[in-house]
Amino acid sequence: MRLKKLEISGFKSFANKTTLEFPTTISAVVGPNGSGKSNVVDAIRWVLGEQGLKNLRSKSGADLIWAGSAIKPSQGKASVSLHFDNGDGFFPVDFDEVVIGRKIYRDGDNEYYLNNSQVRLKDIVELLARSKLGLRGHSIVNQGSADEILKALPKERRGILEEALGLREFQLKKTEAETKLLETGANLDQTANLINEISPHLRSLKRQAEKFQKRESLVGDLNECENKFFGIKIKSILAEKNANQSVREEFREKILMAKNNFEASEKIFEDRIAKFSQTGAESAKMEESLDALNTERQKITRELGRAEGLIESARNNNIGNAKTLEAVLAIKIKYWAKRLDAALALSETGSIRESLKGLADEIKTIRDYFEKGNIAKILALVNLADLEEKTDNPHERDAFDLKRKLFAVEKQIEDAKNILQKIRSEEIEWRNQYSDLQKEMEVARRAYMSIQEAARSVELEEEKINLKEADLKSEMWGSNKNYEEFCDTMLPNFAIADFSNDLENKIIKLRREISEIGNIDEETLREYEETNRRHEFLTKEFSDLERAVGSLKNLIGDLAERIGGDFEVGLIKINEEFDRYFKSMFGGGSAKLAIETAEEKESGVAININMPKKRIRDLNALSGGERSLVSIALLFAIVSASQPPFLVLDEVDAALDEDNAVRFAKVLKNLAEKTQFVLITHNRSTMETANVLYGVTMGDDGASKLFSLKLEDAVV
Ligand code: ATP
Repeated sequence: MRLKKLEISGFKSFANKTTLEFPTTISAVVGPNGSGKSNVVDAIRWVLGEQGLKNLRSKSGADLIWAGSAIKPSQGKASVSLHFDNGDGFFPVDFDEVVIGRKIYRDGDNEYYLNNSQVRLKDIVELLARSKLGLRGHSIVNQGSADEILKALPKERRGILEEALGLREFQLKKTEAETKLLETGANLDQTANLINEISPHLRSLKRQAEKFQKRESLVGDLNECENKFFGIKIKSILAEKNANQSVREEFREKILMAKNNFEASEKIFEDRIAKFSQTGAESAKMEESLDALNTERQKITRELGRAEGLIESARNNNIGNAKTLEAVLAIKIKYWAKRLDAALALSETGSIRESLKGLADEIKTIRDYFEKGNIAKILALVNLADLEEKTDNPHERDAFDLKRKLFAVEKQIEDAKNILQKIRSEEIEWRNQYSDLQKEMEVARRAYMSIQEAARSVELEEEKINLKEADLKSEMWGSNKNYEEFCDTMLPNFAIADFSNDLENKIIKLRREISEIGNIDEETLREYEETNRRHEFLTKEFSDLERAVGSLKNLIGDLAERIGGDFEVGLIKINEEFDRYFKSMFGGGSAKLAIETAEEKESGVAININMPKKRIRDLNALSGGERSLVSIALLFAIVSASQPPFLVLDEVDAALDEDNAVRFAKVLKNLAEKTQFVLITHNRSTMETANVLYGVTMGDDGASKLFSLKLEDAVV
């Protein structure tokens, strides 16, 4: 690696863009006081990431930007870039040239660049640390600060030495690991606290959740048992219902039959009663009219008797009147003669015979009546109208009328008697049938009643089953089960099982256990799950953090060991060179860096000197020049041991006398074999070591101006 060039623009007194090329191992910048030489060093320090404004001799970021002069206006930003040849891969990046850049604006904003890409300050710091370049070591030694290492506290001194020995990278890592360890430790504590905080609550929630789980499992068991239990019960009820249903149907048919039977016999009985009452009325009516007829007959008979008496007396008085019967027969004979003529006039013999037969029969009947002396009957056979004109006796006519009436009344009586007779015989028959029918009807009624009675017991049974069913429904409802739904969904798949007391006892036991557990809020369960998840997360986090703490501790231990080990080795080398340079500069004596407490890995470093010919051991007792010599001896020792790629020294040689300046230049030349130097000097011997000389002057515009110089010009 080699420093190639420095570009400055708008930085401090370098208002104009200025480029310093560093083509060789030693470059020197010379110029009058206040021309801006140290600003070059500041520019290098700044671009390498310096954050301390004091180290840049400024109070604010804006002080780093060209402030302007009477004739040259101020600028809004300052930029510096430092170019390195990375052909040897010194920087662990894939570029042959590495350019580190930095810009600052008046508002104080800083931008960092690596090969023109904007990066973070951290990236620059890490890159430099990895490359063993840094600000705290002796890469850059400001004007008047060469003895800073002498002034530094032992701990600070150790830091400077570590950086010079390239241990800064590890130190950074270690610091980073320590910061992380602190953070992780704090997180670990916080996590432990959180775990401790939620643990008791979680335990209580867990107990609840376990209860809930137990309850869930009991509820599951209960559900299973209840399903079985209800299934058995429903099956049995349905079977009972079915059986009862068929019995009911049988009964329904029987009842219907018995009813029909009863109603039929009842109807017969009633019909008969109705008929009988009608017959009774008829017979009463008949009897009534018979009575009336009899009365009529008596009346007529009486009148007839009176008329016959009158006739008899008339007969006695008038014989002509005694021929009434003969007159009747005479008329009859006339009539028969007419009919005989008419019959004989008929053309058909069959009809004649028939007509004659009629006549003969009639005559025979009359003869029979005549022989028996039944005159009334003979008279009845005669159409009395035919006789009306034939009688002249008014009593006979009355008698005749009366007889005719009597005849009619007797005929009516005869008919009435016949009817009455018939009614009576029917009545007798009915009386005989009545009790049979009544018995029959009673039997049918009883049969109907008893079958109804029997049916009522079946209905009662049905009622009982319905009650049982209703009880079961409400019991199921209490178990959050719907009877109908159960029948639809569960029952079809229900395996036939027998009812057992064990099952019922188990249900009772499960219900008791569930009620003992009581109701558990589902919210609690959710809270348990959430808290448990959080607890698990925290526990995992805790063990991750514990592991992280462990590995950070290991890392810190390893780094401390490495830093300590490398530091000790580096210190031995530095001590060899320190002692050698000291002896050479002071012409004797000895010098040594010592770790203050060897047991402590990171304890500070003390400087022990032994001046030749003097008994001075305290650094504060040295003269300014002596201090400067000790500082330079130590600087050279560090550079010899650590061999930094470049070193910027700002008037480190200012306090040296002629001899020491020559010695300084000589050592510089030796060291330049390994390390590139940029020197700010007023010293001729030093200038003589440089291959390139730059002159800086302050222009009329108040801005620094740079130009190349020959040695002769420089020392004039
Ligand atoms: P010496 O040899 O005395 O140490 P030097 O050459 O190292 O001097 P520097 O300290 O580099 O000088 O430069 C100081 C000069 O830079 C001063 O004149 C100062 O006014 C000027 N300067 C510093 N900051 C700014 C700025 N922001 N703008 C303009 N000029 C500035």
